Amino acid sequence: MKVFDRFHVYLWNGRDNNCNSCLFAGVLPGGRHVLVDPGHILTPSTGEPALERLLAEIGRDGLDPSAIDLVILTHGHPDHVEGAVELRRLGAKVAMHREDEAIFRRLGGEVDLYLQDGTLELGAECRLEVLHSPGHSPGHVTLYWPERKVLVAGDCVFYRSTGRTDFPGGSPDQLFSSIGRMAALDVEELLCGHPYGHSGFLRGREEVRENFEYILRYL
Ligand SMILES: [Zn+2]
Repeated sequence: MKVFDRFHVYLWNGRDNNCNSCLFAGVLPGGRHVLVDPGHILTPSTGEPALERLLAEIGRDGLDPSAIDLVILTHGHPDHVEGAVELRRLGAKVAMHREDEAIFRRLGGEVDLYLQDGTLELGAECRLEVLHSPGHSPGHVTLYWPERKVLVAGDCVFYRSTGRTDFPGGSPDQLFSSIGRMAALDVEELLCGHPYGHSGFLRGREEVRENFEYILRYL
């Protein structure tokens, strides 16, 4: 689904667990695309062809899925990264934080670009702020596009809830300080890593602010 020029979101609506994805369309030189969190190739319990569906949806938006040159991973968990192993085999580069690399490598992936706190310039029209946001996993990153007030939050926050901290390397204290940092940003479009009890795509400054307030106050 096209949100606005250069930004498309793909909200998972299958039966099994998988992540939400998004695409920064045509931002790389030559009009090539950046995909964030491709998710599973096949979902683990029901075998739904998640990657095939995602690429078909991108195609239905009028974009060429074979023009994905870069895949950014918010973190290394299989339900976000499995598809990146396949997309890399097809020629895309993969970017993620070094501290989550081991999990991705165990699935057969390799990293081409390490992300850390700071600016990631994808092209003249798209400069993202990378925030190292540990807590759900040690190498989790979130992506903020200040010009469009977009925040891609991965598994840090969901609708009225937060990511789990009981995986290896998880930490509730770190997660809440990561969330505090995100809550201070000016955000109008918030994409969460999963559709838990909600599509996981929060729109409008009010809805985003209320959700952060709820999390910081009650959880
Ligand atoms: Zn995760």
